[in-house]
Amino acid sequence: MEALIKQAAKDLAACKEAVALTGAGISVESNIPPFRGKGGIWEKFDPMEYAHIDAFMNDPAKVWNTLLKDMKEVMDRAEPNPGHLGLARLEALGKLKTVITQNVDGLHQLAGNTDVIEFHGNFAWHYCLLCKTRLKTGDVDISRIPPRCACGGIFRPEVVFFGEMIPTQALWRSRQAASKCDLMLVVGTSAVVQPAALMPVIAKQAGAKVIEINPEITPLTGSISDYLIQGNAGETLSAILAELDALL
Ligand code: NAD
Ligand code: ZN
Repeated sequence: MEALIKQAAKDLAACKEAVALTGAGISVESNIPPFRGKGGIWEKFDPMEYAHIDAFMNDPAKVWNTLLKDMKEVMDRAEPNPGHLGLARLEALGKLKTVITQNVDGLHQLAGNTDVIEFHGNFAWHYCLLCKTRLKTGDVDISRIPPRCACGGIFRPEVVFFGEMIPTQALWRSRQAASKCDLMLVVGTSAVVQPAALMPVIAKQAGAKVIEINPEITPLTGSISDYLIQGNAGETLSAILAELDALL
């Protein structure tokens, strides 16, 4: 692992334009549970029953009670961890251009990254299913579930549920960033949700180096990624940055 951290620092020092693809794993150290993997929400319930748009439309109260209420409470309290801060530092150093994130927690922006593509939308805003009024998540009153707008419509978060389209702009910009970069950091994603998991494939095909940071192997490991640094995002990125500081 030591050797791979040194290697990653060397690769970052040599690259011109890095892009990061992040998943729920980078926010685990901010106490936001991931979907899959150890301690994941899906150990408790079936995603298709709760995180699918059909499930939400059929029974909004059920999805609010099982998934969204907890998510709102956890995300209201969450703060960036050394993983997010490490990526912000990489941008400040002029190495990292864009963060493509599958997360909806807004922590990359809070950490200081300025070009963040929210592939699956965000949990910062909600809108009314009827009149489309937008409301900051903090202002959504959840004392009654499902929360309702003054017009009587039900509020939903601006996240992309399973079964929904990726916002066109996010998809288009991500593909462009992936095909232009010469290094892609893939941090804390199980790389099984499509089309997000295609971004490292696009980067690889365009000749970029692909480095994974994850405590567990993924479908990219050993095929698409050049190497996997098997560890937590926070400590691994901090260690890489310490090495990189010595090189630059
Ligand atoms: P995932 O839940 O499928 O996978 C999480 C991955 O993170 C696993 O591969 C796991 O090994 C790894 N991991 C666990 N702890 C880690 C750590 N400390 N450091 C680095 N990696 C760690 O996540 P996904 O690939 O992002 O896909 C699931 C979907 O879940 C996404 O589309 C996202 O929208 C949604 N989601 C978002 C949040 C969030 O916004 N924070 C939280 C849960 C789920
Ligand atoms: Zn309304």
